[in-house]
Amino acid sequence: MFSSQVAELVRENEPLAPRCWLRIGGPARYFAEPESEEQTRQLVADAAAGGITVRVLGGGSNVLIRPEGVDGLVLELGGEMTRLQVDKCSLLAGGGADLGDAITVAAQAGLAGLEHLAGIPGTVGGAVVCNSGVTNEDIGSRVSAVSGVKQDGTPCRLVRDQLQFSYRRSNLDDMVVTEVEFELDASTPAEVTRRMQSAWIVRKAHQPPQNVRVAQAFIEPSECSIEDLLDAAGMRTASEGDVAMSPQYPGFIVVNEQATADQVLALIRRIARAVEVQTGIQLQPQLRIW
Ligand SMILES: Cc1cc2nc3c(=O)[nH]c(=O)nc-3n(C[C@H](O)[C@H](O)[C@H](O)COP(=O)(O)OP(=O)(O)OC[C@H]3O[C@@H](n4cnc5c(N)ncnc54)[C@H](O)[C@@H]3O)c2cc1C
Repeated sequence: MFSSQVAELVRENEPLAPRCWLRIGGPARYFAEPESEEQTRQLVADAAAGGITVRVLGGGSNVLIRPEGVDGLVLELGGEMTRLQVDKCSLLAGGGADLGDAITVAAQAGLAGLEHLAGIPGTVGGAVVCNSGVTNEDIGSRVSAVSGVKQDGTPCRLVRDQLQFSYRRSNLDDMVVTEVEFELDASTPAEVTRRMQSAWIVRKAHQPPQNVRVAQAFIEPSECSIEDLLDAAGMRTASEGDVAMSPQYPGFIVVNEQATADQVLALIRRIARAVEVQTGIQLQPQLRIW
């Protein structure tokens, strides 16, 4: 089913749990780590021809995988799709590049505009698709073009007026993002690095350490803090089996060894219902459910 150029890249029944922050969920029926855009195009085209759905896994910080896993092809972008290159006030970043590395490279080049995102885990592709950000300052406002592969395997490039970013959403859900072009502001390395470090210090105080199995359960609503909503609904320390809201870091769920995707979903639904009853605000889940 996969053509000879890419067949050796494809593994079957690859466990996905170790690749995700929650470390929950079943395997991918097919899994590949393409190193080039050409390999990515070929894999997606072959999958389309075989009627196989394709998903891209970035840093796995915003996905919840069900126990049955993914009955399709999961791609993790490597090689040339992790490159980072500065050109005047632009940063060209591969979709698989680490977001933290992209922010650091921009800071070292004295380019401002991404430094407030320091500390958000994951990849450039994941951040742009999820339009990740801090309150209303999201990554999408700095994106000038996105290149990738459409679901039928054809290459595509969207420029500014074809891109749509809204709060934690984009119109990029149906493509594999292989490269992102950011338009940034000229500053100095010292100034951007200083701002990046202060953003990082603030974030470290508000989010759990990297070795804990956590996820941000909800999109933080614009009208009030998630902390206030959880308190209003009496849900700040709610739990479901082996999944609990973190009392220390409001809005984050923490899971332990025996946790299941169903417990995570049940807790998210219960909290959303309680918050809506108490406040009338409809919380939207942040996690992408696979
Ligand atoms: C401790 C912690 C703190 C967080 N803080 C914040 C925060 O402050 N602000 C915020 O907005 N979010 C935050 N998040 C959520 C999450 O980190 C972000 O949404 C992040 O940008 C997701 O990137 P990722 O690479 O991990 O994506 P993944 O979780 O791997 O994927 C998320 C979605 O993006 C898609 N995707 C990933 N890469 C690509 C690609 N190359 N092409 C096409 N689709 C792709 C996936 O298919 C999936 O649908 C936090 C999460 C954690 C665990």
